[in-house]
Amino acid sequence: MILIENCAIATVDAAGTEYVEGHVLVGDDGRIASVGAGSGTLPQRGHAGRAGRFQSVRRVDGTGCLLTPGLVNTHHHLYQWATRGFAPDGTLFEWLTTLYPIWAGLDAEVVSATTAAGLGWLAMSGCTTSTDHHYVYPGAGGDLMAAQVEAAREVGLRFHPTRGSMDLGRSAGGLPPDEVVEKTDDALAATEEAITRYHDPAPDSMLRIAVAPCSPFSVTGRLMEEAAALARRHGVRLHTHLAETGDETDFCREQFGCTPVDYAERLGWLGTDVWLAHAVHLDDAAIGKLAATGTAVAHCPSSNARLGAGMARVRELLDAGVPVGLGVDGAASQEANQLGAELRQALYTARSRGGPTALTAREALRLGTMGGARCLGREADLGSIEQGKLADLALWRLDDLGHVGIDDPVTALVFGPPATLELLTVGGRTIVEYGELRTADDRDLTRRTSRAHRALLRRAR
Ligand SMILES: [Zn+2]
Repeated sequence: MILIENCAIATVDAAGTEYVEGHVLVGDDGRIASVGAGSGTLPQRGHAGRAGRFQSVRRVDGTGCLLTPGLVNTHHHLYQWATRGFAPDGTLFEWLTTLYPIWAGLDAEVVSATTAAGLGWLAMSGCTTSTDHHYVYPGAGGDLMAAQVEAAREVGLRFHPTRGSMDLGRSAGGLPPDEVVEKTDDALAATEEAITRYHDPAPDSMLRIAVAPCSPFSVTGRLMEEAAALARRHGVRLHTHLAETGDETDFCREQFGCTPVDYAERLGWLGTDVWLAHAVHLDDAAIGKLAATGTAVAHCPSSNARLGAGMARVRELLDAGVPVGLGVDGAASQEANQLGAELRQALYTARSRGGPTALTAREALRLGTMGGARCLGREADLGSIEQGKLADLALWRLDDLGHVGIDDPVTALVFGPPATLELLTVGGRTIVEYGELRTADDRDLTRRTSRAHRALLRRAR
């Protein structure tokens, strides 16, 4: 049992309840037993209170800190941690064609190292749940999904890996070289295997699988349609890249005679079980379709800026009722990769488009928490600090030099520099403490990633 007290709290519940000074009590079941103003009262030792029976209480003094829900990362490519800094001035298509031949050397060791490194780094910026979109499966690479699952267990974040895929190589009119794409039936079979082997639908699940063909320019329509049917047969979610760049819009017009969102609709890829990465280039009709179908969006403002892809219409999406979460995207197109920093980037991007009232700090925090939970279908158990929800919590230190004198804690967190985590818990388990990762050794993660980087470059030569 943990009692976090004397801290400001932004619960991000439906009413936006906040406490200037409050407490959260976490039960031994890894769920929030109570949240409220002032100090919490502990049930008597050994007695079954709301939190159930408990053995001992750890008290955390949150003086000078803000407690928020843990952040939820809705789009990533963790393997890219080993290939950062390439094509720094390229468009998406130039950047991809530079990197595909290097990614052709991926194997389980590289994927294990980069998954652990990427998730460890995410934890250090306030993330408690992350998805991953892995879509490069070289024939001789080994069991990449098993490597990911094992690495995520090591770091201790809630993990929603997707089984991605590409089956439209260059010789068939796609963008990726033929050696990094799979046969359609092989990709579908491997996707089904990942679901049956790993997907855990339990409310407190640490591991859920989603189905994620990569993008319109690297995947056939048949794979998109059959992947959607497969996901719906198994009751898992669907994810893909859509409407990221103007080049993609041109590709869809030339190949399919319609916009990316119309293409997705035609293939059965709009719905409450779908979340789309980027969705930058949307006209009003496309936003209307996402809203009407309950399709969610993973907004990745830093990656979109890095690739010069454009600025998503987040204000319009929110006003239309589209669920929007935040994503860091792969580390090769967003080298900083801090989810906490995306709160500010989302705010700045919205305001660059729409002026100073286009997004508030509290709306940015909601995108990074409840918005993300909605993208991943976890809003009943994650995304806000409420009694009965899972204790995925971020306690941010805001009385340091970087934040001193900003009285409103949410303003300090979102507008200020990245804050240090006093504590980060997943289901009540400590992942980060006093700014340091507790579940893995960051020097070891650095060494393994450096080795993975060198191995990939050696293979590419
Ligand atoms: Zn991506």
